[in-house]
Amino acid sequence: SLVYLNGDYMPPEQAKISPMDRGFLFGDGIYEVVPAYHGKMLGFDAHIQRMQSGLAAIDIELDYTAQQWRQICDTLIAKNPGPNQGIYLHVSRGADSKRNHAYPQGITPTVFAFCFELPGEPVCDPELATSYHVSLEQDKRWQRCNIKSTALLGNVMHYQSGAAAGNKETILFNSDEQITEASSSNVFIVKDGVISTPPLDHQILPGITRWLILTILAEHSDFAVQQRVISKAELLNADEVWITSATKEVGPVVKVADQVIGSGQPGPVWQQVQSLFSQHKFDY
Ligand code: PLP
Repeated sequence: SLVYLNGDYMPPEQAKISPMDRGFLFGDGIYEVVPAYHGKMLGFDAHIQRMQSGLAAIDIELDYTAQQWRQICDTLIAKNPGPNQGIYLHVSRGADSKRNHAYPQGITPTVFAFCFELPGEPVCDPELATSYHVSLEQDKRWQRCNIKSTALLGNVMHYQSGAAAGNKETILFNSDEQITEASSSNVFIVKDGVISTPPLDHQILPGITRWLILTILAEHSDFAVQQRVISKAELLNADEVWITSATKEVGPVVKVADQVIGSGQPGPVWQQVQSLFSQHKFDY
């Protein structure tokens, strides 16, 4: 397999980054994950746009165009095995001679990218789909969760406490017991046929899958959809709960903190929405 580093493609063991890189010392960087199935990327423009706004938000100047990013991704897809790949893109502020908190002037950002194999495209058959048991915890991360920062210790710790309880994700609520998101996914609920998801603000990442679901539902369905505050109690009483991300797509949650959701199986609205998602996901 080959990875990309600062303009070159090389085997991963030849990719060398300075320990003085601020990505290593401070988690000072921005990343993205783009899925590709049979060579076709999903949500590419939106992922690159989100990365560019993240870089602007933390004042990293990088002159890569969307076209250059596309070429890097296409090259990695071609040079790595497997029909289904996730492409990880990472830009850190770069290496400095000293460890200063202030942004140094005139250093060159480090640009790194690699592929990892995906198991395959999520399916809409409830018998075959991956369903999720999740933990539920108070969100202890920072107040800029809309920035897709490589500093992920908060997310890692939340995910890990879910994993320690035998779960595959952790849904988070703020100090007002309002659902924010999960450690690596956005959250949706269904109640009486109405689909809801928390509104975009500094507490959550503006997920590309979230955006795709909202767009596809608006253009191809009659479902009532709301972006609104969701309480912890509403989550636990929902007919369906979903966690969404680039690799999960619409992930059906069947248990939250040991409480069974709905029938304990992926629900009928999930099935329709994952099916619509599969039909239209490459259109945007
Ligand atoms: N929220 C967090 C904290 C994430 O890390 C992710 C992505 O992995 C998401 C939400 C979902 O975003 P996307 O749909 O763009 O993958």
